[in-house]
Amino acid sequence: MLDSTTLFADANRFIPGGVNSPVRAFRGVGGTPVFVERAEGPYLYGADGKAYIDYVGSWGPMVLGHADPDVLQAVHAAVDRGLSFGAPTVAETAMAKMVCALVPSVDRVRMVSSGTEATMSAIRLARGYTGRDKIVKFEGCYHGHSDSLLVKAGSGALTLGVPSSPGVPASLAEHTLTLPYNDAAVVREAFERHGHEIACIIVEPVAGNMNCVPPVPGFLETLRDVCDASGAVLIFDEVMTGFRVALGGAQALYGICPDLTTLGKVIGGGMPVGAFGGRLDIMEQLAPLGPVYQAGTLSGNPVAMAAGLKTLERVSRPKFFDELSEKTRHLAEGLRIRAEQAGVPLSVNWVGGMFGLFFTEQQRVSRFEQVMACDQERFRRFFHGMLEEGVYLAPSAFEAGFVSAAHDYDVLDRTLTAAERVFARL
Ligand code: PLP
Repeated sequence: MLDSTTLFADANRFIPGGVNSPVRAFRGVGGTPVFVERAEGPYLYGADGKAYIDYVGSWGPMVLGHADPDVLQAVHAAVDRGLSFGAPTVAETAMAKMVCALVPSVDRVRMVSSGTEATMSAIRLARGYTGRDKIVKFEGCYHGHSDSLLVKAGSGALTLGVPSSPGVPASLAEHTLTLPYNDAAVVREAFERHGHEIACIIVEPVAGNMNCVPPVPGFLETLRDVCDASGAVLIFDEVMTGFRVALGGAQALYGICPDLTTLGKVIGGGMPVGAFGGRLDIMEQLAPLGPVYQAGTLSGNPVAMAAGLKTLERVSRPKFFDELSEKTRHLAEGLRIRAEQAGVPLSVNWVGGMFGLFFTEQQRVSRFEQVMACDQERFRRFFHGMLEEGVYLAPSAFEAGFVSAAHDYDVLDRTLTAAERVFARL
């Protein structure tokens, strides 16, 4: 049996910070990351032999739970036919048909290999389509690590205190306007001043990289209005919310039709996949039809398509999202009530299969400043208490949690009982 401390020390000798993505290093909570050996259903199994109930789900993709037998079977069958061809396959068409059928605003879709690639490509497409340079994003939202988008970003950039990364040229960052999330008045003002220069708005329709912050009524509607009036492209970054908050994503849940949508995480079922799609006249600007260049050696990879297609097929079953939402509600409300009973101020947000916990006296958290004002030290103690109890939460106060279909009510109730014990000693 190998302990995580020894494994992490070894990793640090060869990998910067011992990890291949910064938040995994536990800097936001202190201590040593759990090294994972395998995962099944709602559980992660550490290299130290311990089992954990997992609410990270590989940061969102594992909506069916880990190692789902149907998905594994589809992947095994695809592997046996070869790993990559770099030529069209029917699986890619099947995936595109599925996405166009499920996501209301998507007429055409292109596959890529990560969420970062999806957002980066969508931004380039919006700039190419409009002939404008400026983009609007929101503070605390994270859209991957491409240069234009690493300005006042959320997720690991926020956890590590580097929301605007060195290495992004000032001449590029100056084209990114960053506005406060959920503040429609500021958006209107910005468009009155710069509307004719703005290529696009990119937004997480439910922010999931500054913890979990749903849109306030009227916010997404305002984004649609200002884009219509100015000719800017509205991009919903549904890398996290796609096939996670509802079958048709946040756009279906809130009834707003973006011009472009970016997808990732669930669409790959745990394999490296992203996608961007949307209105026909915009998507036709892409090479080889149009002049906006975008490409990828492994885009539409057959093994990844098999995992993604099977996952989408499963989430399309009747009542999948009703059941997932009810489980998330049970967990989030259960945590809130137990915290209240223990005299610990806790506010919870949840949408579909996503939830957020905020150690704060505030009733409803809907702004970035409110997230930043939460008691991070208390979160750290809660995180480590839960980890000792065998519950694995995201190791940062700025990340959403995820419930999967494999979390049954027994697992959820065991989580609540563990939380009761931890709240009592906070
Ligand atoms: N967009 C959103 C909303 C995300 O949450 C993420 C990742 O967490 C990304 C984009 C980037 O995706 P990836 O990490 O696959 O590059």
